[in-house]
Amino acid sequence: MPNAKAYSAASATSPLASSTIVRRDLTPDDIQIEILYCGICHSDLHQARNEWKDVFATVYPCVPGHEIVGRVAKVGSAVTKFKVGDLAAVGCMVDSDGTCPDCKEGLEQFCPNFTLTYNSPDKHLGGVTYGGYSESIVVREKFALKVPANLDLAGVAPLLCAGITTYSPMRHWGVGPGKKVGIVGLGGLGHMGVKFAHALGAHTVVFTTSPGKKEDALRLGADEVVISKNPEEMQRHLFSFDFILDAVSAEHDVNAYLQLLKRDGHMVLVGAPEKPLQVAAFNLLFGRKSLSGSPIGGLKETQEMLDFCGEKGITSDIELIPIQKVNEAYERLLKSDVKYRFVIDMASLKG
Ligand code: NAP
Ligand code: ZN
Repeated sequence: MPNAKAYSAASATSPLASSTIVRRDLTPDDIQIEILYCGICHSDLHQARNEWKDVFATVYPCVPGHEIVGRVAKVGSAVTKFKVGDLAAVGCMVDSDGTCPDCKEGLEQFCPNFTLTYNSPDKHLGGVTYGGYSESIVVREKFALKVPANLDLAGVAPLLCAGITTYSPMRHWGVGPGKKVGIVGLGGLGHMGVKFAHALGAHTVVFTTSPGKKEDALRLGADEVVISKNPEEMQRHLFSFDFILDAVSAEHDVNAYLQLLKRDGHMVLVGAPEKPLQVAAFNLLFGRKSLSGSPIGGLKETQEMLDFCGEKGITSDIELIPIQKVNEAYERLLKSDVKYRFVIDMASLKG
C-alpha cells in the first residue's frame, strides 16, 4: 500500500506536524488523487483539538482536511467518470451505504452509515480516515466531484465545504429575489454565504463583529453591513428578515438574531460552536419563527453548486499558505484574522 506525506495532530494539545500515512491500494471503483490544494475549515481546528468530543471524539493521529482539489493520478479498473490527468475534488464525505432512504434521495450527508473524509472509521484499513492535509488521497469515484475548468483551482477548494454548506440551506429554504437574507459571521463559510445570497438575487445583509470587514462585505456582494456589537444598528432590522444563516464558530447570542426574523422567518445554524447555545422560547413563539441546522450537502447538490460557481465565476477569496504555516493559520482563525479562507498549497509538502 502506498505511503503518503501528511500533516497530523498527535493529540488535542499538540501542534500539527509532518508525518507519513498509508493510503489503500485502489479497488476497481477508486481513484487516487494527487492533492494540489486543501482549504482549512474551522471544523479542522475543532476536531484537531477535540472540541467536538461529545459528538465526534477525535481519534489520533488526526489528519484534517475536507476541501480537496487535485489531479487524478491513478484510476481503478471499473472507473468511468475520471481518467488520469483530470481535475477532481473531494469534500467532507468519502463513502455512504448507498441503500438507505437518504442515499437514495441523493442526500448522503444524512446517511447513518456515511464515512467522513477524516476522523471516521476506515472500512478498508481499520483505524480512522485521513483527510486532505496530505499529498494524495484514494476515494471512490462516486465521492469525487468534477471541477469546472474555468475557475482558479486554489479558490475552488473551499467550495467543497464552505461552499456547499452555505449553498445547500439557501436552496432548501428558497433564498432568491424578494427575500431579505442575513449572514452572521464573515469567515470562510460566511463569505461564501454572501456570494451565494447575492448571486441568488436576495437582499443580503452581513452581520459582523469586525468593523474592519465592512468594505470587504460590500465588495463580496452585501447590500448592507451591520456591526453586530452595536445595539442601535441591530434594532433597525427588527422583524425584517426572511432567512438568516448563522456561520459563527464560537459561543454567541442567537436570540439577538431570532428577534430580527419576520413572521414565519427562518434561521439556520451552520456554525458548530463547541458549547450549547441558549434559545429564549419567546423569540420563537412570537412570530412562529423557526431555528434549525444544516450539515454540508449531498453529492448531487455539491456538483450542482460547483457547476453554478463555474457559470457565475464564483470562487473563495483565499490566502494561500505553505503547509508549514498551518499552526499559525489556526491561531489566526481563532482571531477571525483570515480573508477569507486559508488554503494550503500542497506543493509545499514535497520539499
Ligand atoms: P471561520 O472562518 O473561523 O469564521 C467564523 C466567523 O465567526 C469569524 O470570522 C467571525 O466573523 C465570527 N466569530 C468568531 N468568533 C466569534 C464570536 N466569539 N462571536 C461572534 N462571532 C464570532 O470559520 P468557518 O470555517 O467559516 O466555520 C464556521 C463554523 O461552521 C465552525 O464552527 C465550523 O466548524 C462550522 N462548519 C459547519 C459545517 C456544517 O456542515 N454545518 C461545515 C463547515 C463548517 P466576524 O469577524 O465577521 O464576526
Ligand atoms: Zn468544513
